[in-house]
Amino acid sequence: MLVLVVIGVVASKNSAPKVQKVCGGCRRTMLPVWTKCLFCGWAPVARLEFILGPMANQTLNLTDEVTTIGSVAGNTVVLADPAVSRKHAGIRKVESNYELADLGSTNGVYVNGQKVPKKTLEAGDIIRVGNTEAVFKRE
Ligand SMILES: [Zn+2]
Repeated sequence: MLVLVVIGVVASKNSAPKVQKVCGGCRRTMLPVWTKCLFCGWAPVARLEFILGPMANQTLNLTDEVTTIGSVAGNTVVLADPAVSRKHAGIRKVESNYELADLGSTNGVYVNGQKVPKKTLEAGDIIRVGNTEAVFKRE
């Protein structure tokens, strides 16, 4: 009995934010490491939550095969920012992953403070392009 109580306390401490991933397709519980449901193949819509820059407080669902970020019309996200190149960065859906790529920008693309030419995004990654920052979220 005492052992059970101790385990219970430890477990509740480790799972601090009580986020349980539930499949949006079959409603079964998904393990946190799954990027898609292994029962039915359902994958959560990924999104960018902008936290800094002209798009701050806005959310973009990454539903397209390719999402582009740049300073001119024709990009999915148009940022009126002199530090942003005409075609600055792109996010491409590759199966259940999202690949961020620098499209030859002048000032680079940063993820979690590091300049990257290309990166498979993970939930919680912070992307910076010019003066804009966005958090990549998957659930
Ligand atoms: Zn499912």
